[in-house]
Amino acid sequence: SIEEVEDKPEDLVERAPIVTVMGHVDHGKTSLLDYIRKENVIAGESGGITQHIGAYGVQLDNGQKIAFLDTPGHEAFTAMRARGAQVTDIAIIVAAADDDIMPQTKEAISHAQAAGVPIVFAINKIDKPDANPEKVKEGLAQMNLLVEDWGGKIQSHDISAKFGTGVKELLEKVLLEAELLELKANPNKAAQGTVVEAFLDKGRGYVSTILVQAGTLRVGDYVLAGKHSGKVKAMQDERGKDIEAAGPSTPVSILGLDGAPQAGDKFNVFEDEREAKQIATKRTQLQREQSVRTQRH
Ligand code: GDP
Repeated sequence: SIEEVEDKPEDLVERAPIVTVMGHVDHGKTSLLDYIRKENVIAGESGGITQHIGAYGVQLDNGQKIAFLDTPGHEAFTAMRARGAQVTDIAIIVAAADDDIMPQTKEAISHAQAAGVPIVFAINKIDKPDANPEKVKEGLAQMNLLVEDWGGKIQSHDISAKFGTGVKELLEKVLLEAELLELKANPNKAAQGTVVEAFLDKGRGYVSTILVQAGTLRVGDYVLAGKHSGKVKAMQDERGKDIEAAGPSTPVSILGLDGAPQAGDKFNVFEDEREAKQIATKRTQLQREQSVRTQRH
């Protein structure tokens, strides 16, 4: 069943932080996510990640890992939260150094604060001649957000997402923040997590990108995600490489669900295939009844 069993402290092991990038339009969210995706080279593998699956994991030189939700903008963040999914440990908020603190910067800040998620500011576009990172930090200070070089506790780093300047240091600050959070999960149980995105691929069927948050997901596991279920036929990492198992804080694409669940839907692994199917059917029925009811009113 889906009931939560509390983990014993001795079963918990450290897990990588899950990071969302937010900020005002055109301030450089996509550029930052693209730079990290393309430049990061996992030990022993050459080249960056070429495919876009809605989430990806990177490993720094020191072996530490970070999982990124590759869905820039707080629409995805709020959509997931609206479905009860808490999938972000740390928010990177990108603010362009050649612009003011904009409405969506403020929105991103309040979303992160409402979710209780620590913020690391990326003051972007410092390569531009008219860039003025101090003005951005002053703007933040006026909102009672004091970054470190203004005597506060909030981390920030000046970057150029276009040229990659400061990105490595930004990620180190993210990891510092993660350390304070002492993120842990139990890898030795049935997997659970959240759907990031899903689509129908001609030839492969339904492909769902999911983020494993606890436990370990394995090929052959029976999964229920939102209103859909199925046996995991194959699993791939962000490089399109087939993998057999995925532990906490790992984004993976899975094949085998009988439909496309929605972003923010939770997924669970069931020992009993029938039980998963029954719940999926019940959820579909419930939704049908609800929509009939709304139509009547
Ligand atoms: P988003 O809307 O926040 O995802 O912003 P984008 O990443 O799409 O960037 C908006 C524009 O700013 C694009 O034309 C980028 O090439 C440009 N841009 C992003 N980062 C930088 C940067 O560090 N320096 C410069 N000069 N331009 C940047």
